[in-house]
Amino acid sequence: MLFTVSTKDSPFFTEDCAAEKLGVKVEHDLRKALNWCDVANMLRVQNERMDISYFPSTREYTQQFGLNKAILDNLDKEIIESRLPGITDAARLFANVDVTKEPIPVVPTVHYNMGGIPTNYKGEVLTVNGSEKTVPGLMAIGEAACVSVHGANRLGSNSLIDLVVFGRAAAKRAAELIKPGTPHEEISENETQKCIDRFDKLRNAEGDTGTAELRLAMQKTMQSKCAVFRTEKTLQEGVEEIRKTYDGLDSISVKDKSLIFNTDLVETLEFDNLIRQAVVTVDSAYNRKESRGAHAREDFPKRDDEKFMQHTLAWCDGKKTKISYREVHKSTLTNEVQYFPPQERVY
Ligand SMILES: Cc1cc2nc3c(=O)[nH]c(=O)nc-3n(C[C@H](O)[C@H](O)[C@H](O)COP(=O)(O)OP(=O)(O)OC[C@H]3O[C@@H](n4cnc5c(N)ncnc54)[C@H](O)[C@@H]3O)c2cc1C
Repeated sequence: MLFTVSTKDSPFFTEDCAAEKLGVKVEHDLRKALNWCDVANMLRVQNERMDISYFPSTREYTQQFGLNKAILDNLDKEIIESRLPGITDAARLFANVDVTKEPIPVVPTVHYNMGGIPTNYKGEVLTVNGSEKTVPGLMAIGEAACVSVHGANRLGSNSLIDLVVFGRAAAKRAAELIKPGTPHEEISENETQKCIDRFDKLRNAEGDTGTAELRLAMQKTMQSKCAVFRTEKTLQEGVEEIRKTYDGLDSISVKDKSLIFNTDLVETLEFDNLIRQAVVTVDSAYNRKESRGAHAREDFPKRDDEKFMQHTLAWCDGKKTKISYREVHKSTLTNEVQYFPPQERVY
């Protein structure tokens, strides 16, 4: 995807490869860049050296103005139509925007979820006490899982390792564990009832707050209080604010009671999941008083391996959370490859 980002004055491109693919010269003003990753991508395209001194103003710019529009107006219409049909169509369909004339509205979204359900490298889910004991019959792979190699999983190959290494290992392990013809284990009435009760409760919710309203409040809190650059103050506010949105669950309303293609209900079930994720995310970030990877605390700009070279574990009971930590793997399974300890990010 290629964006020419419309800032106050000069436009610039982001996203690696796209510019090269289109044979377009990249023009940019580093001080108006979106984030470090985009700067890195742009520089890679241009083969320039990165200058750290630009970053403070990049950050200020990002926080002050954010990114909300992208335009493609300095490319020929034919180039846009032939090489970017996907984005052209999406913009027309979802935003009613002609990309050759108008800016495309842009909001931040998720590229890759780091962390997840703790598993061993075979995809078997581990118990939460860090003992590496597996939960029989439960597996997780891909973005849902955390195999404890996330440093090795950034950025050009988010899911490559999930796919070619852990996907394969999980499939092999599943084939070992599952004997053909084995019936499903009986699920207790009690467990089934819990699922049906949750479903019925949300489907019959007669409150006065629409799901979309609560979802928007959740998005706004997460984007403004728990974005990439974080401080004690913003996170503390986030911890409180997200709980107010959580309380909205008590007055949620689902208008459509039908059982066929009920997007109102599906969105409500999704919100019920997401708000819990949001609560543990902001609480985990608040408790991690260091900077590491995508978690950039301006008040704790350094990585603190002594205290935080560990995965956060979060328990969630409604809006109550318990935060704990789990050891990070510091060894490999072979002598042929050594463990790579994290190093300071330098440019
Ligand atoms: C814009 C974008 C660009 C990316 N670019 C790259 C890249 O260049 N390289 C790279 O390696 N990675 C990239 N990624 C990341 C990569 O695409 C994802 O990490 C990967 O696809 C995740 O795979 P997954 O199987 O774990 O999850 P998903 O692909 O998300 O699959 C989960 C599936 O579960 C289904 N599902 C959800 N809820 C339910 C339910 N209740 N019941 C049944 N089914 C359900 C969903 O519909 C979905 O099909 C990119 C991601 C994005 C968003």
